[in-house]
Amino acid sequence: MIEFLPLGGADEIGASCFYLNIAGTGVLLDCGIHPRKTGFESIPDFLLIENKPVDFIFISHAHQDHIGGLPFLIKKFPHIQIYSTKQTAELALLTLHNAVDLISRSIDEPDFIIYTHDEVEMLVKSIRFLKYKETLSAEGMRHTSKNKIKVTFYDAGHILGSASVLIEFENEKIFYTGDIRLEPQFILNGASIPDFIITTLMTETTYGSTDSKSLGTFSSEAERFTRAANIILNSGGSVLIPVFALGKMQEILLMLHDLKSKNKLLHVPIYSGGLSRKISGVYDDNRYLVSRNDAEIKLNEIEQENYFEINDISFFSKNPSIVLATSGMVLPQTTSFRFADYWLNDNKSAIFIVGYCDPETLGFTLTNSQQNDKIIFNSFLREVKCSIQRFYFPAHSNRENLLKIFNRLSPKQVILIHGEEKSQQWLGEKILSNKPETKVHAAQKGKTILIRKNLDC
Ligand SMILES: [Zn+2]
Ligand SMILES: [Zn+2]
Repeated sequence: MIEFLPLGGADEIGASCFYLNIAGTGVLLDCGIHPRKTGFESIPDFLLIENKPVDFIFISHAHQDHIGGLPFLIKKFPHIQIYSTKQTAELALLTLHNAVDLISRSIDEPDFIIYTHDEVEMLVKSIRFLKYKETLSAEGMRHTSKNKIKVTFYDAGHILGSASVLIEFENEKIFYTGDIRLEPQFILNGASIPDFIITTLMTETTYGSTDSKSLGTFSSEAERFTRAANIILNSGGSVLIPVFALGKMQEILLMLHDLKSKNKLLHVPIYSGGLSRKISGVYDDNRYLVSRNDAEIKLNEIEQENYFEINDISFFSKNPSIVLATSGMVLPQTTSFRFADYWLNDNKSAIFIVGYCDPETLGFTLTNSQQNDKIIFNSFLREVKCSIQRFYFPAHSNRENLLKIFNRLSPKQVILIHGEEKSQQWLGEKILSNKPETKVHAAQKGKTILIRKNLDC
């Protein structure tokens, strides 16, 4: 028997955690935290696997919605063996330490015990590494077959160290995309997926409901970005770009560097800070170890000023600058939130949203507002005086490429995960019209899907 059970991140983006019981071996894929929720609501529901075998966890990448719940998981299952790429482990050390402070600030449930910095150190030290295309043979304590499970990572092209996971057992080949981008970004080359047919595809659906025409291409968006930024900078304003510290920040930084060196973008200072610079350092250290467009460029050698050194925020109204500030969704108590608070009053300046925003975040509200609109910001009604513009540089595949992945892998069965219901619906319908005999499931938290009933053993 092979069963699949989502503990989180099934029909939404947040707290991704998927359980597989493969002939008595318990395998988890990812263990994230919901970026917007707090307390028990924010982590996967571990009660669902309380009496089941739990032996291994494979972490696809170091974004919080895939790894942030790991410290809570190992408190419950201390014997679990953790695997990731070396790059994911190095990034996890930075992001999990950062999360300790963020989570403890927002927590209001007395029973919800937050982990410590020491626990993060120990956890990351216990992670075992798997390279791309390297195969691990494994079996859990209660494995019932003479055949082991084989696990192989594939480059997912999403952020540094990101992996899709192929699990082979007997004649089953289960492929978990994680967050995947098939086409190149500014830094990373696209994903590499198996060149053979698989049996079950567990695919993310982030951009399933987004018309790809609205996403444009990286080069057309970069051109649009340049035109818009130059107008703001020429008029004496500054551009605030809320970014995820991991991935988006590095990709946008390289784009800015490229545009400046080609004299397309005005030469103004770029401001960044804190965690994102440390993460850029991990990108630099690993630049020859992963597939990149140009391994020679070191991100931390791109000229950047530190925004933590600016005491008076009105500085940016007088000195045209580009500011890359976290968080990407403009969550409360973050630098981008603090800056956005000031920017909203400055009619010369602009906020450029460049990444995914959860519908219940301020980033999303900003994305859908224009100059002179009234919005609720930090519980107050505010007028938007600055310009707000949206650009797309997705680290995920567009929906046509999700379909391409399905067509290339040609599975009999598909489980749709990591996307809103309408995203799952678009991809599910397209898959069925392409190949009507496919069994398509929209994953739901707590609902078991039987991948295979009987084993050959
Ligand atoms: Zn991700
Ligand atoms: Zn994700």
